[in-house]
Amino acid sequence: MERRKDAGDRLPYCSLCSRPSVIRCRDPDRHLCAEHFCQDLTGRVLKTVTTSAMITEGDRIAVAFSGGKDSTALLLVLQEILPLWQDVSLVAITIDEGIAGYRNETLQCAERLVRELGMEHRIVPFSRLFHTDLDAILQGREERACSICGILRRRALSSAAEEAGTTKIATGHNLDDEAQAVLMNVFRGDLVRFVRDSSSPSGRCFIPRIKPLREISEKEIAVYLMVRGYYSRLPECPYTRYALRAEVRASLSALEFRHPGTMRNLVTGKQRLATLLAEVLRGREIATCRECGEPCSGTICQTCDLLKKIFR
Ligand code: SF4
Repeated sequence: MERRKDAGDRLPYCSLCSRPSVIRCRDPDRHLCAEHFCQDLTGRVLKTVTTSAMITEGDRIAVAFSGGKDSTALLLVLQEILPLWQDVSLVAITIDEGIAGYRNETLQCAERLVRELGMEHRIVPFSRLFHTDLDAILQGREERACSICGILRRRALSSAAEEAGTTKIATGHNLDDEAQAVLMNVFRGDLVRFVRDSSSPSGRCFIPRIKPLREISEKEIAVYLMVRGYYSRLPECPYTRYALRAEVRASLSALEFRHPGTMRNLVTGKQRLATLLAEVLRGREIATCRECGEPCSGTICQTCDLLKKIFR
């Protein structure tokens, strides 16, 4: 159907009503106004959550909440859709790694939002678990900052979620994160991580992880926060400059801009490959880490190996 166009106003209109659009979405290609975009995004998250049975009645969900964009959007959407289940509650968990000049501001942002939403909030400092902060751990190891931080944060989150008596851990991974992870695992030659579903419970932690935003792009999350009035500019982590992810992110964003659908295709392709490989490997014994029980290619996984080296 031909949509109304105003010659004096070059802003496209929403494909569903006569209001100005705030975003052009692909697949299907359409322009959406603020209201229809928020409805669309919430509906897609709900579809992801229900098709993968991510939430069940009686769940107490730990939301990994850094105060950044993804986890803010996650908290807002989850709070909106939660009344569809009976007796489901949320507890926001913020891990304070101890990164000078960065974490304090995001912590303040996180505390403000949780107070506004009237939600239970737990802040867990690295020092409580690891007896020191990330800045101290990374001295002389800055090039490996993100992999060390990621491993320790995952442990800290699992332990905080267990302590809070939760049944699920929800993380704010979006479509861009998922696509970046596929490429990074390829670049590292890490086949175990490439085929493994990172949302599965792992090792000592038996709390399943869910990723309700995994179909939503980073751009959509930014627009969602802007139209809902929750977008804020936060400082960037000082260790970002060492991250392989930063380079992968820039390359993938450029590819997605020129070839829309690249990120979704990467993630879908990886899922297909993982399913095929699971069939090939069915019945064969997979090696697991002797320390934590994670699948791995040797006798000890990368995480436990790293923890031993850092804290020996
Ligand atoms: Fe941790 Fe790297 Fe993220 Fe900084 S950028 S918070 S070091 S994962």
